[in-house]
Amino acid sequence: MNATRPQLRPVSLRKEGDEFLLIEWSDGHVSRHTWRNLRSNCPCASCREERQRPPDPFHILKPHEIPRGPLRPVAMKPVGYYAYTIAWSDGHSTGIYTFDLLRSLCECPQCVNNSTTQSPPGSTSSFMPQS
Ligand SMILES: [Zn+2]
Ligand SMILES: [Zn+2]
Repeated sequence: MNATRPQLRPVSLRKEGDEFLLIEWSDGHVSRHTWRNLRSNCPCASCREERQRPPDPFHILKPHEIPRGPLRPVAMKPVGYYAYTIAWSDGHSTGIYTFDLLRSLCECPQCVNNSTTQSPPGSTSSFMPQS
């Protein structure tokens, strides 16, 4: 039913503070993203594999997994006419965020309420509270 919809594309991107990315779309919607959520939905092969692996209770953090300060985006570059890559402060930059993916990750109240496919909050979090 979306077949006749012209392809959505971002018309402008801007940072809001250190935490948010705002994307204005060709349909007028302004989507709101936290960098943390974008990173935890990184579509590159190794992050996808990481997310699909069952939790390993004996998992030992490798040096690159130990957070060194807050994760920041250092660059965001267009890929063709369909996607962006985001380079992160920890050196990771292989994820290609297609416009469809970015739009589906919108965290504005409107999209969050409309979405039925999103997993419950916290289910993808890797930050387990210490007891
Ligand atoms: Zn990745
Ligand atoms: Zn939205």
